Amino acid sequence: MRNILLVEPPYKTKYPPLGLMKIAAYHKRLNDRVVFVKGCIPEIKAERWDRVYVSSLFTYYWKQTVKAVAYYQDSVPRRTDVIVGGVLATLLKDDLEAETGATVIPGLLDTPGILDPGDKTKIDTLTPDYSILSNANFTYELQNSYIGYATRGCPNGCDFCAVHQIEPEFNGYLPLSRQIRLIEELYGEKRDLILLDNNVLASSRFKDIIKDIKALGFEKGATYSYRNKTGRISTVNRYVDFNQGLDARLLTEEKMALLSEIAIRPARIAFDDIRFRKLYEAKIRLAAKYGLTHLSNYILYNFKDHPTDFYDRLRINLDLNEELGTQIFSFPMRYVDLKSKNRLTSTPGNIGENWNVKFLRAIQCVLIRTRGLVGTKRDYFLKAFGNNHEEFYKIMLMPESYIIHRFDHEGDGSTDLWWSQVCSLSDWEREIFDKIVCNQLYRTVNHAELPRAVRKALSHYMNYDSGKLPDVDEELIALPPAGKIRAA
Ligand code: SF4
Repeated sequence: MRNILLVEPPYKTKYPPLGLMKIAAYHKRLNDRVVFVKGCIPEIKAERWDRVYVSSLFTYYWKQTVKAVAYYQDSVPRRTDVIVGGVLATLLKDDLEAETGATVIPGLLDTPGILDPGDKTKIDTLTPDYSILSNANFTYELQNSYIGYATRGCPNGCDFCAVHQIEPEFNGYLPLSRQIRLIEELYGEKRDLILLDNNVLASSRFKDIIKDIKALGFEKGATYSYRNKTGRISTVNRYVDFNQGLDARLLTEEKMALLSEIAIRPARIAFDDIRFRKLYEAKIRLAAKYGLTHLSNYILYNFKDHPTDFYDRLRINLDLNEELGTQIFSFPMRYVDLKSKNRLTSTPGNIGENWNVKFLRAIQCVLIRTRGLVGTKRDYFLKAFGNNHEEFYKIMLMPESYIIHRFDHEGDGSTDLWWSQVCSLSDWEREIFDKIVCNQLYRTVNHAELPRAVRKALSHYMNYDSGKLPDVDEELIALPPAGKIRAA
């Protein structure tokens, strides 16, 4: 019997670590002792382990991942007995090996013998071991959900997406029934069904997938009963969530009709590019026609888009909500270079060609209030993002504290004073001002050399510590579970 430790680095996530749960199932079959922890735990480090597996997520969690790997390397016979897999491990394999000396396994665990030569198990096909979560030092928001895949990979290769590197083969049908039934048999019935498919609509067997979902008890209007804390039976709705979103380009009327037969909520439809406006609007109308009114929308920004495109995409959702009676919640997703080891807005690769560090931070400031979510209330939206492009630009130029504490600064007159000083700048002064603000140079530039009017307008930016701005992307990762979004 071997002593096996599974570690998820201490970043925020609401999804249980599926890869580690499958590795747990694999080692338990071999009668090994398996322990799972989140982060760096001294008592666990003090034990001797035969092997430690560390999962990884986005590349910008580099620091936390490397720290977790290094932390447990003294607890195994050799540094190579720490094995790292996952997204970061796939995209930054060489860097991670050089930095830690750990064994890095890229891609999926879908080759027999990949962990132990000669073994015939395809680890990726095993039923995830949910039991490791019950004794863990961390509770995942989506623990009470079946989590699985009806497809793997994606036939497309969008520039901003790493799926084709992580899951290069597109498999258009995985027998969902078997996966879910096994989870239910081994670990009990779960409420919701979370499907991590990258592009389920690309499957030629989409009809069969919907059939499987219905057969599993997730048809439209499906419910789930459980014994609550007082011992009574409670019944709630259960939902299906294709959490990676649905590709609007592939959303035909037939597929929309099929989606409306299952308990999907929210239906997440991507709107990554303003050029797809007509198509996107048509698909939202189609969704409304089939009674899918609870919608969610990933809005990629800071890639090839322009800030005004970003504003327009949010505004379109607002207008559609009012026209169709839908509830579209938008999730702005800031593009970060696929191999970036941090997600700072000041890192050159993390700034899109039409964006700048100030505008990106301004969006973060606006989203802090709503935990990354743009809701459906018109008044709130217009206040947060402005009535039009001009007001949007004004908000993006504002000092960060004026954005975050909008009412305080409007109340004491400082916002009006700042804006009147900005508007009174001559063209060449405004050019200097914009350059300094958009590149956040107000702390490094020599103010004595600047025109007096520019100095005055810049003085509003000096009264806060931008280093203390909360990172709204942390919040985005830890967004409330679908249930809470639905209730919002
Ligand atoms: S369609 Fe979606 S999953 Fe496929 S490559 Fe593009 S962004 Fe990635």
